[in-house]
Amino acid sequence: MTYQFDRFLRYDEYTAWLHGVVAAHPGLVQLESYGTSFEGRDLWLVTITDHSTGAHDTKPAHWIDANIHSVEVTGGAAALYVIDYLVNGFGSDAAITEALRTRTFYIVPRVNPDGVEWTLADSPRFRRSSVRPWPWADAHQAPGLHERDLDGNGEILSMRIPDAHGGWMIDGAEPRLMARVPAEGAPAGVQRYRMLYEGDVVDHDGFTVPLPPNPQSLDMNRNFPAGWGTGVPGSGDHPMSEPEIDALVRAIVARPNICGYNAFHTSGGVLLRPSSVMSDKQLPPIDVWVWKLFSERGTALTGYTAHSVYEDFTFDPSETMSGAADDWVYEHLGVFGWTTEFWDVIQQATGTKPSTHIWYTGPTEDEERAVYRWAVEHHPEMYRDWTPFEHPQLGQVEIGGWNELAVWTNAPGSRLRAEIAPHAEFAVYQALCSPKLEVLHQRVERLGDDTWRVEVGIANTGFLPTYVTEKARKDRLVLPLVAELAGADVVGGTARLELGQLGGRLDHRFHYGKSDGTPERVLAGWTVRAAAGSSVEVSVRHQRAGSLQISVSLA
Ligand SMILES: [Zn+2]
Repeated sequence: MTYQFDRFLRYDEYTAWLHGVVAAHPGLVQLESYGTSFEGRDLWLVTITDHSTGAHDTKPAHWIDANIHSVEVTGGAAALYVIDYLVNGFGSDAAITEALRTRTFYIVPRVNPDGVEWTLADSPRFRRSSVRPWPWADAHQAPGLHERDLDGNGEILSMRIPDAHGGWMIDGAEPRLMARVPAEGAPAGVQRYRMLYEGDVVDHDGFTVPLPPNPQSLDMNRNFPAGWGTGVPGSGDHPMSEPEIDALVRAIVARPNICGYNAFHTSGGVLLRPSSVMSDKQLPPIDVWVWKLFSERGTALTGYTAHSVYEDFTFDPSETMSGAADDWVYEHLGVFGWTTEFWDVIQQATGTKPSTHIWYTGPTEDEERAVYRWAVEHHPEMYRDWTPFEHPQLGQVEIGGWNELAVWTNAPGSRLRAEIAPHAEFAVYQALCSPKLEVLHQRVERLGDDTWRVEVGIANTGFLPTYVTEKARKDRLVLPLVAELAGADVVGGTARLELGQLGGRLDHRFHYGKSDGTPERVLAGWTVRAAAGSSVEVSVRHQRAGSLQISVSLA
């Protein structure tokens, strides 16, 4: 099955495509199911590395997951694109080849396959994430509006209802668009409307239309065990209460070689990073410095601006959004986390980035008009004419307007590949910045007939230190480097040496002047008793920086 990254795949196609990649690249790709979704679908994890240079768990790794949020299908397509980019670039692209020879990628393209399937169904239902009924176990529909494709055209659009006190009127500049009634009221004689998403009004009282949470109102990106709180909308019954998040957290923790993490979402055209709950001033300055260094490359490659969620994307700092995946990996694993929000249709249409408060305020009228004109030119099917419809509870309404999923939330098929492609190179860059253990030096000295001094010089030749973040070092989240000798009796010491952590080239940045020393090196030594001509095995391992084994001849 070929896939050109010009549309979104249903679950069966997605599964078939992954199996096809494994079959075509058996030396690079492994596929496993790390759990089962609420509706019983396999949760797929793709592991990519050059198996001829070592197993996946002997190398530092970069983790990518996507589509924890159902409708953000551009993120899922981007994760599939990274897989395609890696397997096709191996052997021809120098950076990809080096990355797969020395590092591992773990990619979960669909954290939440059930929600994606509801989104892409012929009769779609849009949910934030999980399709598990919550907080009512019986899928209770609270009184009010419940979104649904009423007219059966496969899209959930908007309804406009004539209402003398409505907040909307026909836009003066673009008569198919709706504009807000000015604060002082509409000019005399202007028809006003109330706007609602397309759907049923449950238990309609004839006067009010509440907007209750839907019967599946979980947000699985608030279900991680970091600052989890019941006050955060959709956070679930308890941390990891959802099978998809329980499986994801366990899969990540079971791979202690992970050094970097990226969750793919939509929308906004931004690279977001921790913290969501505290200011940069409360984080270790070196970690913020590294995020900013990575941001420079990320922005250069993708055009996306980079932001701390707390610093730039929080409307009300007294109401922060905790329990997100990138905060969890930073706070609890000490790993550099990112949330990529793909696609910014406003920037596409205007060439200018909207306010970072757009999540809370929506687009301005000028921005919406620009997007409308862009859509009419390139994707006219994304804005539908207002068509009369006899609503079961509200009577005569009109259905039409934006297909928000297709134009605001996700990149349209014609733009999808161009939008997601640059992010694969950013992933390779981050992987190549991770720490990397190597043995650079060996020395054997004969002390007596059968007594030898064996020394092995170990280095972290990567950019980041072996502990990766300052947060991890301070909180002691990472085990020390170990060197262990086998094959001879060790005299006056132990075979297993714990050697602490090694710096990386990053350390050279944090002192004044050009005298680096060797913060990234350590010399391990043993005195052993063994016959001349024999050899000893030295194993060097670090949970993040990798592991390797060498043989040293006693001669
Ligand atoms: Zn999201």
